[in-house]
Amino acid sequence: PTANIGVVGLAVMGSNLARNLASREGNTVAVYNRSWEKTETLVTEHPEAGFVAAKDYTEFAAALTKPRTAIIMVKAGRPTDAVIDELVQVFEPGDIIVDGGNALFTDTVRREKAVRETGINFVGAGISGGEEGALNGPSIMPGGSEEAWQTLGPILTSIAAVADGEPCVTHVGTDGAGHFVKMIHNGIEYADMQLIAEAYDLLRRVGGLEPAEIADIFAEWNTGELESYLIEITAEVLRQVDAATGKPLVDVILDQAGAKGTGAWTVQTALDLGVPVSGIAEAVFARSLSSAPAQRAAAQSLPSATETWSVDDRAAFVEDVRRALYASKIIAYSQGFDAIVAGAAEYDWNIKKGEIAKIWRAGCIIRAQFLNRITEAYADDPGLVALVTAPYFADAVSTALPSWRRIVAGAALAGIPTPAFASSLSYYDGLRAERLPAALVQGQRDFFGAHTYKRVDKDGTFHTLWSGDRTEIEADDLH
Ligand code: NDP
Repeated sequence: PTANIGVVGLAVMGSNLARNLASREGNTVAVYNRSWEKTETLVTEHPEAGFVAAKDYTEFAAALTKPRTAIIMVKAGRPTDAVIDELVQVFEPGDIIVDGGNALFTDTVRREKAVRETGINFVGAGISGGEEGALNGPSIMPGGSEEAWQTLGPILTSIAAVADGEPCVTHVGTDGAGHFVKMIHNGIEYADMQLIAEAYDLLRRVGGLEPAEIADIFAEWNTGELESYLIEITAEVLRQVDAATGKPLVDVILDQAGAKGTGAWTVQTALDLGVPVSGIAEAVFARSLSSAPAQRAAAQSLPSATETWSVDDRAAFVEDVRRALYASKIIAYSQGFDAIVAGAAEYDWNIKKGEIAKIWRAGCIIRAQFLNRITEAYADDPGLVALVTAPYFADAVSTALPSWRRIVAGAALAGIPTPAFASSLSYYDGLRAERLPAALVQGQRDFFGAHTYKRVDKDGTFHTLWSGDRTEIEADDLH
């Protein structure tokens, strides 16, 4: 055997990851794909990589030095299980199987447990950055055992993206921790994209700007605190002109956003954990709304806004939108990190939040300058309970606040949907409110279901005899 690492699944992600691995000093890469054509194409097109091509799993295992280490990059779900079943047959105790696909973290927990019984290590690793990231350096979020990390760490470190001299990979935690964090990354990505889209919509419909002009604004924003990959590519997309019609490409793209499910997973998981990831949820729902043509067609005749929003000072308006975007983005990340904290507590993962922000600084889709600020916030105060309350972010949000309110209020009056901007502002106001109407909700719950309530002025649990004489009793006396 000559290969120190193997890749199973040679579609876009797998073939690029295999090439990335092969390009690093000291690596020899064994490759296998269910259908031979993909293997043949890869090996023929990239002789410089020195791949060891395997025709079946036995050949693949025989090509690998021990402990054998293989990264699976196949369609998530049943295909991943099918490949694991095959690898377990030909691997031995101490070997390492890595799933680099977009697995649901609960599947990873289940697989890790099952594979561990055989003595083989199983590592679920979230890999972000798409095709280009896989080839040139992705952000990698591996879970799994400490033992597996000893072997795998140096290999993953060699191919990961680099931010300020640091590789974008860290051992996130055991079993499903890596895929959990990758899921949250994707959820934040949904929110980030929706917020940018809302900013674009306002600049276009209220600011009266053309896509190419908005592209210039985004390019300008990309030199400041909003600097990020998503802002950068937004400018590129807005500048693109359709060859067939001569129109801006964005005007000929059907306005129905698709989804592959990781945003929905984030929201479903957050609901189970009881964490309000409202910005991410609104982003997922905004895509669903866009993709409901029957409902949208039926609603075309509904009344619109009563006020038109005319902007006198366009530069001031553009700055308001930028600040609203930044504040909402801070909320989305704050909520995402809350979900990570809750997941870590629920599943017993020792996740270092500052490290997560660090490995998202390059390689992945949400890579952004401001992740440095998140790392600093957690370094300054490891017990930070809400990111938005860290001094830097609290300051940024309070600077943005008047703009944020003007934008959300103006959009509501003008009938322009800003679900993510508006829900983020509501979340902010909810969080900082001294008293919430949750007190009334508790009263209602006690009325119809005897669900009891606590009081602000003394300990204990209470119930009002709503259908009796409406006196209050201690809940202990209830049953
Ligand atoms: P696809 O998700 O399109 O999967 C295609 C690959 O899966 C092919 O190699 C195919 O083999 C293999 N496959 C499918 N079913 C089976 C099976 N039953 N047994 C064995 N192999 C099977 O490939 P991508 O490269 O797009 O993605 C790979 C993984 O990476 C996925 O989990 C994806 O979610 C994840 N990912 C993708 C990103 C992207 O930007 N595309 C970004 C980050 C993660 P065959 O050629 O024989 O059909």
